[in-house]
Amino acid sequence: MDYILTTSGLTKTYGKHNAADQISINVRQGDIYGLIGRNGAGKTTLLKMISGLAAPSSGDFTLFGFKGKEKAQVMHRIGTLIEAPGIYPDLSAAENLRLKCIAMGVRDKTVIPKILETVGLADTGKKRAGKFSLGMKQRLGIALALIGEPDLVILDEPINGLDPQGIVEIRETIEKLNKEQGITFIISSHILEELSKIATNYAIIHNGALVQELTREELLQKCSERIELKTDDTAKACTVLEKMGIHEYKVVDNDTIQIFERLQDGGDITMKLAENGVKTLGISVRNEALEDYYLNLTGGNSNA
Ligand code: ATP
Repeated sequence: MDYILTTSGLTKTYGKHNAADQISINVRQGDIYGLIGRNGAGKTTLLKMISGLAAPSSGDFTLFGFKGKEKAQVMHRIGTLIEAPGIYPDLSAAENLRLKCIAMGVRDKTVIPKILETVGLADTGKKRAGKFSLGMKQRLGIALALIGEPDLVILDEPINGLDPQGIVEIRETIEKLNKEQGITFIISSHILEELSKIATNYAIIHNGALVQELTREELLQKCSERIELKTDDTAKACTVLEKMGIHEYKVVDNDTIQIFERLQDGGDITMKLAENGVKTLGISVRNEALEDYYLNLTGGNSNA
């Protein structure tokens, strides 16, 4: 598998507290990798370690095939927006980017208008960044992260506090960069619903630990609307379903089948099963919303 980042038991301890606890995640080239967790779950800590802004207490990670001290030579391939973007409020968007170019030794200043265009700030002219809306500041933050042509861009809560329009703009910017320039993204958020509109892969983090790593398909399947059918003979039940022309189903354990089509036909299904000598032990339509799924995994509704 073509991973550009794999972390292995990555841990950061502050005092006696593991802010990140043995986290192992895998990010492939081209992923939009969503890191989801409540406030204080350890997302920023993990992202800081990956970006080289915090040293791990234990564990390591492999970045573009390099690990240990060797990673230093590929760190420049990461662009980051972690916590507040380092924006000079008295300078325009272009001037902010120019300073970043100087800091990073990027001589080709023609990248500045291109990046401003990409993030939708081409028309801001001399307007001082301090006067930007929150969404514009976030987009300028992303623009700053793009200086130096990174292959991997790490964005910590890029949609936090944005209005719906601002969220859409950030999402479109990320999708464009991912599709057109092949940039891999790691994005953190505490709102799964928002991440789900864009991320191709997910890591769910809770209390510093990785709870689950899954693909978009796996997540959608877990949360999709379905009939949950329990019978006394799964094999025979599958034969009956096939005969009924139902093929979109999955056997999940010894007595449970999930059916993803003809959700209104529960009555017909139990009748046909009975006709074929299969006893229905339970049948229900389930539709776990994404947010509920995530809350269940991370233990309830409170955000404490
Ligand atoms: P948020 O979105 O609120 O920042 P998060 O998931 O990014 O949440 P972290 O910022 O990584 O969480 O924090 C994880 C835990 O580590 C928290 O309990 C936090 O208080 C603690 N922590 C983070 N940085 C430090 C630090 N420099 N010193 C001590 N404790 C820290």
